[in-house]
Amino acid sequence: MQRQPLPKQLDARKLCISAAEICAKISVSELPRFAAGLASDNGEVMADIKLYRDEQGFYRVDGKARAAVEVSCERCLQAMPIEIAAEFALALVWTEEQAKALPKSLDPVILGEELLALDELLQDELIISTPFVSYHNIDECKTTAPTDYPAPEGAGIEEKGESPFSVLGSLKPQD
Ligand SMILES: [Zn+2]
Repeated sequence: MQRQPLPKQLDARKLCISAAEICAKISVSELPRFAAGLASDNGEVMADIKLYRDEQGFYRVDGKARAAVEVSCERCLQAMPIEIAAEFALALVWTEEQAKALPKSLDPVILGEELLALDELLQDELIISTPFVSYHNIDECKTTAPTDYPAPEGAGIEEKGESPFSVLGSLKPQD
C-alpha cells in the first residue's frame, strides 16, 4: 500500500465501524512535541494504524510507528541517528469510568464526539518510546578520553610506564 500523508483529524468511531487501515507518513518537523526531545527535526515517521471494532465491541486504534531520527548523545552532546519504534493497542472511550473498566491490554483514549487528533496520538506514543538517554558506541563518540587530552608542557617527565623518561627516574638514588 502506498503511504499517504498522515491524516491529522479522524472521525475515528465511524472509521472503526467501517474498519479502516491507514498507511501513512509524516515528517518529524510536523510533530513539534516529539521533535522537542530530539537533537533535530530531521527524519520521517512511518505509521501503520488499524481502526476497527473488536469482538468485545471496543473501538480499537491499533498501530505501529517507526521513526528514523537524531537524538543527542549524553556523552558528547552530538547528534546520533537512532530508530524509534512504537506499538500501541488503544480503545476509544467516552468517559474516565469506561477507561478504568478496560482490560489491562488496552490503553484508553478518552474521546467525546470530537474528531481524533491522530498526529497528537502518534506524538504521545513516540515520546513514550523515545529512550530516556542515548549514547554513541564508545568508538563513534566524539568525547576524547582524559588520556587523549594534550599533555601540559613538561608533563612528560612525570609520566609512568612507557615514558622514555621513566628510566631516568629509576636511576635516581633512593632516599
Ligand atoms: Zn557521543
